[in-house]
Amino acid sequence: MTPHTFFCNKSFDLQVTFDQQFHTSVEIFSLKQVHSTNIVIIDEQSQVESIKQLEADSMLSNQKNICLAIKTADCLPILMFHPKGIIGAVHAGRRGTEAKIIAKVLVKAEEEFGVKGADFLFWFGPAICGKCYQIDKDQNIYFDLIKENLHQITSVTNQQPQVTISPICTLEDDTHHSYRRVGHAGDSNWSGICLS
Ligand SMILES: [Zn+2]
Repeated sequence: MTPHTFFCNKSFDLQVTFDQQFHTSVEIFSLKQVHSTNIVIIDEQSQVESIKQLEADSMLSNQKNICLAIKTADCLPILMFHPKGIIGAVHAGRRGTEAKIIAKVLVKAEEEFGVKGADFLFWFGPAICGKCYQIDKDQNIYFDLIKENLHQITSVTNQQPQVTISPICTLEDDTHHSYRRVGHAGDSNWSGICLS
């Protein structure tokens, strides 16, 4: 059982990347992301087109050969894998992070699949870094998505997470889409995980 993770930028399309990797058409599940803490479980009955209509910001699944995909442009994409065959994809922006989305996903994973948060591997994809993400100009306050989400995982599992963190800051690296750089007109970077 192998997890495959993909972090796309301006030059990489997720569908094309997946089709090349697997030489077959992989169903790509995505959501109507709304900065919530809603979690969707993808099972064998799930349909791509109906899941796409759901207002939610994370998915968990025990299915193989499907992709869970999240789009971001400065927010933090988190992909996760549990060796018992569970995968997850999480959209953790400031609002989702403040509402503790990753902690809620870990609790849900245990309820739904009986797996412990401590055994997950995590990938934090490209996101705006803590030095760039100023949230209050007057008071000069910055928000660190990576630090906050690491802290929340640790608070659930009581141990340091096994995590791979992208060194890319989406605002500084213009090969990536960035909301703060171009505003609403811009596109998003796709991140996806698939189990085979
Ligand atoms: Zn930065």
